[in-house]
Amino acid sequence: MSNMQLETLRRIVQEINASTSLHESLDIMVNHVAEAMHVDVCSIYLLDERNHRYLLMASKGLNPEAVGHVSLQLGEGLVGLVGQREEIVNLDNAPKHERFLYLPETGEEIYNSFLGVPVMYRRKVMGVLVVQNKESQDFSEAAESFLVTLCAQLSGVIAHAHAVGNIDVFRKPNNLPAYKTFQGVSGSGGIALGRAVILYPPADLGAVPDREADDISEELQLLDTALDSVREEIKHLDDKMQHALMAEERALFSVFLRMLDENALPAEIKEQIREGNWAQGAVRIVIDNHVARFAQMEDDYLRERVADLKDLGRRILARLQVEDANHRELTDESILIGEEISTAALVELPVDKIAAIVTSEGAMNSHMVIVARALGIPTVVGVTELPINTLDDVEMIVDAHQGRVFINPPRRLRTRYKEIQKEEEQIAKDLRQYETKDAITPDGVAVRLFVNTGLMIDVVRGVQRGAKGVGLYRSEIPFMLRDRFPGEEEQRAIYRQQLSHFANKPVVMRTLDIGADKDLPYFSIEEDNSALGWRGIRFTLDHPEIFSSQIRAMLKASIGLNNLHILLPMVTSVSEVEEALYLLERDWVAVQEEEQVKITKPKIGIMVEVPSVLYQIDEFSELVDFFSVGSNDLTQYLLAVDRNNPRVASVYSHLHPAILRALSRLVQDCHRHNKPISICGEMAGDPISAILLMAMGFNTLSMSSSNILRVRKAICHVPMSDAQELLAHVLKLDNPLVVKSWLERYFRTHGLGDMVKSATRIVSA
Ligand code: PEP
Ligand code: MG
Repeated sequence: MSNMQLETLRRIVQEINASTSLHESLDIMVNHVAEAMHVDVCSIYLLDERNHRYLLMASKGLNPEAVGHVSLQLGEGLVGLVGQREEIVNLDNAPKHERFLYLPETGEEIYNSFLGVPVMYRRKVMGVLVVQNKESQDFSEAAESFLVTLCAQLSGVIAHAHAVGNIDVFRKPNNLPAYKTFQGVSGSGGIALGRAVILYPPADLGAVPDREADDISEELQLLDTALDSVREEIKHLDDKMQHALMAEERALFSVFLRMLDENALPAEIKEQIREGNWAQGAVRIVIDNHVARFAQMEDDYLRERVADLKDLGRRILARLQVEDANHRELTDESILIGEEISTAALVELPVDKIAAIVTSEGAMNSHMVIVARALGIPTVVGVTELPINTLDDVEMIVDAHQGRVFINPPRRLRTRYKEIQKEEEQIAKDLRQYETKDAITPDGVAVRLFVNTGLMIDVVRGVQRGAKGVGLYRSEIPFMLRDRFPGEEEQRAIYRQQLSHFANKPVVMRTLDIGADKDLPYFSIEEDNSALGWRGIRFTLDHPEIFSSQIRAMLKASIGLNNLHILLPMVTSVSEVEEALYLLERDWVAVQEEEQVKITKPKIGIMVEVPSVLYQIDEFSELVDFFSVGSNDLTQYLLAVDRNNPRVASVYSHLHPAILRALSRLVQDCHRHNKPISICGEMAGDPISAILLMAMGFNTLSMSSSNILRVRKAICHVPMSDAQELLAHVLKLDNPLVVKSWLERYFRTHGLGDMVKSATRIVSA
């Protein structure tokens, strides 16, 4: 693509992003494309699924009267052909083509050349973009790639518009459909019925929801106070910068102050409030409008002011949010929604009041989800099309088993889900009989079930559900809940709690595993490719002072209990373990000397989560006492699929043949060296994969407390001989979905259907 095309592309994308409606985006697109490609016509047809037609939504060149009226059936005309084939159609003499359809309303017959590109989103055709010329010519490959790139951008905009109901502009303007379903990824199973509470990051203009003002004069008052504070803040900044910036560089501050003049932005914001909007929403609307207008301007200087305008908007918003004492109280029916909810933000809330969590970003094994799972909160993530801002206080059903979210569900659906909820409560009650049972197969093979912990609630639930130890203590979780690195004594007290609740049982404490999606609020690591970056042991070896304070705290906490095991995360190479062992030895000697007490040397293990470890078991066995598989990361790295990216969630499967084969070999390698091996990724807590792991030879499975009873029940009912047969069969399969259905079939036909039931067989309302 030429530089000029790239520049045009950049401009179009920028303007589309700043536009406020789908119609506007489409108009921007057709006008710019026609101009940039010097074509007579550029049109966009969108698929109207309800009527099974492609509707002409925008056009530069065709009769304007036709826009919004002309439509084609699915397979009709050249547009239909593009949609059907899902590929580019490039013709120099379109009227000669057998599929050419003459549409008199458009005056189309005089255009000879035709280039149609499908607009695809998640493998689905959303529409077709067409350029046409009177002159008969083949469009170049560069023209094709230019349009393909644009269509890829456009598809996101259309998908979003679909989600917020704007696609119905030609039928039902700006109305969120009464009832709508969204699909995401299941993070933590369960069902909830309730109302949405938006958790939006502070001072994020784009995230401010639409909400009606309860009391208009109160909102006006709040705005005035906020504006006064912002004016003060800007004057203060101006004073402060007097010596650092030249007068013209400080001119921005006077621009800000002029914008804040009563007759400027404030007047517009107040008008919005008087129309019934709450102050924060009014600020968002006014700033958005101006941003869209500025972005269209030819003048570079003015276009660049967009950033300043947004900055000013954020300042007003930040003040309003401080003033807004009106933070909604959570009730038992609160369904938390947001773009992304961090672990820290979650645990700050009264978690027993959260009925469910739904986020537009994130994926099934992100840290927040792991914590939500421990807390037993139904969670759906990666609902990319969720129109968050329009959902404040809206009634919802969350079916986290299927990753589905229903907005404004009809009564019939609510009644059905309430019944299912009751059935689930009954299943949970029945499972309680497994709290006191041992995990022994009908043919007498015992499996040790451990619990993964991080929060105190995991410990309490783990003990209550009969965990035989802690297989993974995620030490980064308490770090996430603070506003600074906790000191050694503070850590000692936390670790002691964990160790003492499981006195006489092994407790595997993992050293700090931060980086990638595990961000500390006070130590952000910004990297382009963070999953492959500075995380786990790579970070702690670069910060031996943090590593040592943790090790020292763990050692001190273990005095008299002697049940401490230490686990190193994200190990890639032997040298990392050698370095860590050196530090561990040094700290062990030092703490004993300082405390004047003998401390049992903890067993040291490494996590198998980077594929390189799979091939070095011989070497690592020389150095460490045990191995623990982190299947969440191992799956991510073996399949090269981001565990947090909902777009590729369907590629992420721990039942992938490569994972199953790697794990089978790994167990054999470890057994050859007489090294204990356990598994603590989410795979261990899924009954169908737990059975396979048991058959491979894993005799210790560590999981979230919410999965212990289900896995124990599965083990109590599936003989090892059956598990081995299942394993032998699935190891020959090549498709994770087939593996899954094969295992589920066994469960269903052996009276264990409730363990694999995606709770719901709902008649779509
Ligand atoms: C894993 O990667 O499987 C694991 C247990 O660690 P975490 O999920 O904390 O990365
Ligand atoms: Mg991991």
